[in-house]
Amino acid sequence: MSHFTRKDGALYAEEVSLLDIATRYGTPCWVYSRHALETALDEFQQVLDGFDSLVCYAVKANSNLAVLDVFARRGAGFDIVSAGELKRVLAVGADPRQIVFSGVGKTAAEMELALAAGILCFNVESAAELERLDAVAGSLGKTAPISLRVNPDVDARTHPYVSTGLKENKFGVAYDAALPFYRQAASLDNVRICGVDCHIGSQLMDAAPFAEALDKVLLLVDGLAAEGIVLEHIDLGGGLGIRYRDEEAPSVKDYLLPMLDKLRQRQLRILLEPGRRLVGNAGLLLTRVEYLKPGEVKNFAIVDAAMNDLARPALYGSWHDIVPVVLQSGVALPWDIVGPVCESGDFLGRGRELALSSGDLLAIMSAGAYSMSMSSNYNTRPRAAEVMVDGARCHLVRHRETAEELFALERRLG
Ligand SMILES: *Cc1c(COP(=O)(O)O)cnc(C)c1O
Repeated sequence: MSHFTRKDGALYAEEVSLLDIATRYGTPCWVYSRHALETALDEFQQVLDGFDSLVCYAVKANSNLAVLDVFARRGAGFDIVSAGELKRVLAVGADPRQIVFSGVGKTAAEMELALAAGILCFNVESAAELERLDAVAGSLGKTAPISLRVNPDVDARTHPYVSTGLKENKFGVAYDAALPFYRQAASLDNVRICGVDCHIGSQLMDAAPFAEALDKVLLLVDGLAAEGIVLEHIDLGGGLGIRYRDEEAPSVKDYLLPMLDKLRQRQLRILLEPGRRLVGNAGLLLTRVEYLKPGEVKNFAIVDAAMNDLARPALYGSWHDIVPVVLQSGVALPWDIVGPVCESGDFLGRGRELALSSGDLLAIMSAGAYSMSMSSNYNTRPRAAEVMVDGARCHLVRHRETAEELFALERRLG
C-alpha cells in the first residue's frame, strides 16, 4: 500500500497535502512517510519472527537522523560504512551491540572509534584489513568481533554499478580465499571470529541469486565447522529491489522464506542489511516547474531540483516516476524534466507525457533511497529541506541549507 495517495486530485503524503508542504517549506523538498518506513521494516521483522535475527538498516541509503530514529525505536540495528555513519546512529541512541561495520576502506581511526563504541561486528573485506584491525584492537587492549565478507561469485543480474558479488568486484574476499582467511583470523590474538557476511548487489528483482549465494556460504560454514571454527551468525546482506516503474519486485516473504528454510535447522543468528527496500518507496522529491522551453526536437521543463539533489538518473540512467501534485486537464506533451545545473546529464526524467504549466508542482517518486544521501552542492546549490510526515503532522527533519553555510568552512587568502 502506498502512503502517497490522491484526494480530490491532489497528492498527499499520509494525511498532509504536498501543496501545503510546498507552501510551508518551499521546493525542492524531500518528503518521507514515517508509516511507510515502519511498514517496510515490519515486513522484514514479521517474516523473521521466531528466528534469532537482527535487521540492520544500511544507513547509506538514507542517513537522516529522523529516519534512523524511526528504525532504532522499532528495534532495528544498523549497517554502517564510515565513522560519520557510526556517529549518526550513536546520536539517535542506537545500541552499539546492534551495529555492523561494512566497507572496503576502514581507516585505523574508524576502527578505533567502532571498537571504543563496542559494535557487534566488523565485516572484514580483505586480509590486509584483518591485519590492521588485529593491530588496532591490540593497541587498545580490545578484541575485535569479525565476520568475513565473502564473495560468492554469483550474478545478481542487476545494474553493473550496483552488482557486487562477482569475482571482478572490489568487495569481499574471493570464495576460494575464505578458508585460508579464517585460518589466519583464528591465529590472531585480538580478533574473535563471529560470523560470515555476503552482499551480492543492489536492486535485485529476482530472489534466486540470494538463495544461490546462501548455498555457497553455507558450504563454507560447514567447511569451517569441520576445522573447529564455529560461527555465531550469518549476515545475508541487503539488495532486495523495489518498484520504480512497473517492475515486479519480489515480496519480502518470497525473498526470505527460501533462505530461512535453509537456515531453520542451524544454530546461526540471522543478520540482514536492507537499505533501499526500507526507504526507497517511503520518500519523494517535491519540485516546482520554473520554465517551460518547448522546442522542435524536444520539450524541456526546467524544474528547481537537479542532479545535485537526485543523482540517480544521471548516474545510473535510473527511472523515477514523475507525477503532477495536482492533476491538470490540459494537453499532455512529452517533456524532458531537467534541472538548472550546467551539465547535459542533468535530467530527472525524459520524454514524460505531462500537461505542464510553469509553477506546477511535480513529485519525483521512489526517492527515499540513495537520493538525498547521494546529493551534492554542485553549482553551490544548497541541499533541499527534508520533511517527515507522520499522520496529519509534519516535521522539518533537515532545514534547507543556505549558501552561506556552504562556504562557511572556506577562507580567503591571508
Ligand atoms: C549498500 C549495502 C547494503 C544495502 O543495499 P540495498 O541494496 O540498499 O539493500 C547492504 N550491505 C552492504 C555491505 C552494502 O554495501
